[in-house]
Amino acid sequence: MPAYTIPEHVLKRPRTRIVCTLGPATATDDKIEELIRAGMSVARLNLSHGTPGEHEDAIARVRAVSKRTGVAVAILADLPGPKHRLGPAPDSEIILEPGQRYILRDGDGPSTAKFAYVHPAGFISSAPAGASVLIADGAIRLSVIEARSDEIECEVAVGGPLESHKAVSAPGHASQISYLTEETEAALTVAASQRVDFVGISYIRSAADVRLVRDFFLARDFAPQLIAKIELAESMANLDAIVDAADGVMVARGDLGVELPIAQVPGSQKKIIKLANSVGKVVITATQMLESMINAPVPTRAEVTDVANAVLDGTDAVMLSAETSIGQYPGLATAVMAEVATEAEKSLNREEIAGRRRSGIQGLDSAIADAAVATADRVGASVILAFTESGSTAARVAGFRPGVPIIVVTHDSEVGRALALRWGVTVVTTPRPDSIDEMFRLGSRIALDTGLAKDHERAVAVIGVPIGVHGSTNLLRVIDLPEPEPKI
Ligand code: PGA
Ligand code: MN
Repeated sequence: MPAYTIPEHVLKRPRTRIVCTLGPATATDDKIEELIRAGMSVARLNLSHGTPGEHEDAIARVRAVSKRTGVAVAILADLPGPKHRLGPAPDSEIILEPGQRYILRDGDGPSTAKFAYVHPAGFISSAPAGASVLIADGAIRLSVIEARSDEIECEVAVGGPLESHKAVSAPGHASQISYLTEETEAALTVAASQRVDFVGISYIRSAADVRLVRDFFLARDFAPQLIAKIELAESMANLDAIVDAADGVMVARGDLGVELPIAQVPGSQKKIIKLANSVGKVVITATQMLESMINAPVPTRAEVTDVANAVLDGTDAVMLSAETSIGQYPGLATAVMAEVATEAEKSLNREEIAGRRRSGIQGLDSAIADAAVATADRVGASVILAFTESGSTAARVAGFRPGVPIIVVTHDSEVGRALALRWGVTVVTTPRPDSIDEMFRLGSRIALDTGLAKDHERAVAVIGVPIGVHGSTNLLRVIDLPEPEPKI
């Protein structure tokens, strides 16, 4: 009986990772299991909606199903971020008509037919005359006619019903308030108490926002992977520093398409992915990828092409939002995404993406990772085994986009989950080996037990030596399978 097996459906996953947003459509064990079987590596929760209790329930559900099925699933919790919102709407509807004047003020209180309050205070001073103001992500659009010290007078360009608590923004004029709003602090507290694996930093403006979030967690002895959601003009302008400060990025096309001229979204996507590839950070491409599958069992040709193009651009992961949170076909949408990614990967230019990485770094660790991938190609290895303490060895290998599976061997399941967004990585958790020779034997067993390699084939192993020292990848070996067991 082999000791190390990986379920067939996991072995068949595309090398591109899939993130599924959870919601009412995926709030049962059965639905979560369906997503896992279809290829979900990361379950995402939007902490802007719902109560802490609901989020805790969803996280507990994912963890229970993950445990039962033996398939690791990481949790990504998205923060609300420094958003301004309207106060409550009165019972009688307020309908804004195009051409009418409407006033916005700093403060908290119900909206009226003539004016509305925006909180937290600070929006008014960041929306000068001439700026556009979007309510509910652009469902209603105003244009600022006159900015006074305590209010802005606007003309309605696109009207509609003014609902309670809708988000208010002025594209190109990011809010100046502290990243840690009351709402965001509450979400950070949930993320920390639940020990989630990834935290999505929504509406990030600069690297300083990443540092605030990191410090909040460090004060609680917690260090999740921080994903900077690039969704404002300001975050595009500060992209290099943000990518440097974060552990990964998201091409958050939903808000980006509102904040920038929509025609700039495709170019921004390519720019963000290239930069992330070159510095070895993970990148998620997100939003509306299979949008029509919210209500239909088949995607459009354009959507399928969009998913394939994100894969070919070099993304590590693709994401489903409403498709899996409120859609009618969450499992099917995930399965379609996996199928499209698998097909696209056949024509992925791995060498070009590895070249981006090569141009972005020097250093011993990366030289070994690069050499491991080249060696695997040269000797026709069936698998690369990355033994890792902190996850960094595995992450480095993935950056060079090998043609064969990367099996990460770690004794720490938390380290394994932190790699859940890494392209091409499958994690096997084992007891901690106590010598290099033991690692080679363990690696050989895993390669054979999982069926990823056969006797007389080869595996390439990369190991951080000395064992137990984080972030040191400096041993590379080709294993002729099977590695002999010690003579007793
Ligand atoms: P959201 O982020 O779904 O939390 O808004 C992604 C995006 O804006 O694309
Ligand atoms: Mn967004």
